Amino acid sequence: ADEWIATPKRTQELIRKYGIVLKKSLGQNFLVDQNILHKIVSAAHLDVQKGALEIGPGIGALTQHLAVQAGKVVAVEIDQRLIPILGETLAPYPNVSVVHGDVLEVDLPGLFAEHFGGMERVSVVANLPYYVTTPIIMGLLERKLPLEYIVVMIQKEVAERMAAKPGGKEYGSLSIAVQYYCEPELVTIVPRTVFIPQPNVDSAVIRLKVRTQPPVEVADEAFFFEVVQASFAQRRKTIYNNLSSRFFTKETKAELGPLLEQCGIEPSRRGETLSLEEYARLSGALLEYQG
Ligand code: SAM
Repeated sequence: ADEWIATPKRTQELIRKYGIVLKKSLGQNFLVDQNILHKIVSAAHLDVQKGALEIGPGIGALTQHLAVQAGKVVAVEIDQRLIPILGETLAPYPNVSVVHGDVLEVDLPGLFAEHFGGMERVSVVANLPYYVTTPIIMGLLERKLPLEYIVVMIQKEVAERMAAKPGGKEYGSLSIAVQYYCEPELVTIVPRTVFIPQPNVDSAVIRLKVRTQPPVEVADEAFFFEVVQASFAQRRKTIYNNLSSRFFTKETKAELGPLLEQCGIEPSRRGETLSLEEYARLSGALLEYQG
């Protein structure tokens, strides 16, 4: 049977043996709880036909579970000091490749072509460094990598924002961006006690099922996201006020009311009440208006 890496004892031993001082600045909080690891890995529905891309393997706590479940695992780790540790802990798993690099800079399409050629589907599974959660996830989605799921441990508040429905204070441009590309589902809330060292925030595991097609028709994605951003520029202001200061002048302002009406959107509403469909309609009408 496999000897698990993710126990408090083995984790402490490895850190001591290699003389590593963990870096807060790299979000180095290592998982030491088998239950949580099982929950993360089972949410990704892996099997031997599937690949897993892990971001930030640390000392291999999650990597080991992925290696047992998936056909192929690629783990990208930024911290050079951890590479020899991973060499030791993952030695029994020939289906794992460790890549030293910053995931924000690695050539992911190239890495997919090199490692995941034989795999049916690939998912990202990771306990993410919290300081770069949003850039990492949005980077994966915007590059339109052919992913099945993104199953990640992230800060609880960020997970709630990603999964939020219109109407509440958690709903914002991040909710809309994530839901444009994926169907989000909160898997579980995670207490701080499952990490060494313990982080200062609560965590959650979220599963994003990556869509093969967007749920709404958008002619110009960049402009769609610009309209969304503008609508939340000042959360307490109405959609009318936010849009008029971004897209209209004193002279053209009078045309915004009818345009909103044409979209079936009350000008007095706030950005946080508009659905994805309404943003799609609105950005389409604004695009047409701008010619
Ligand atoms: N997967 C391990 C676990 O669950 O115990 C470690 C998770 S720890 C929260 C985050 C890991 O991501 C650390 O090992 C850190 O060095 C690494 N990391 C931080 N920024 C990164 C980046 N930009 N690219 C790749 N890895 C990064």
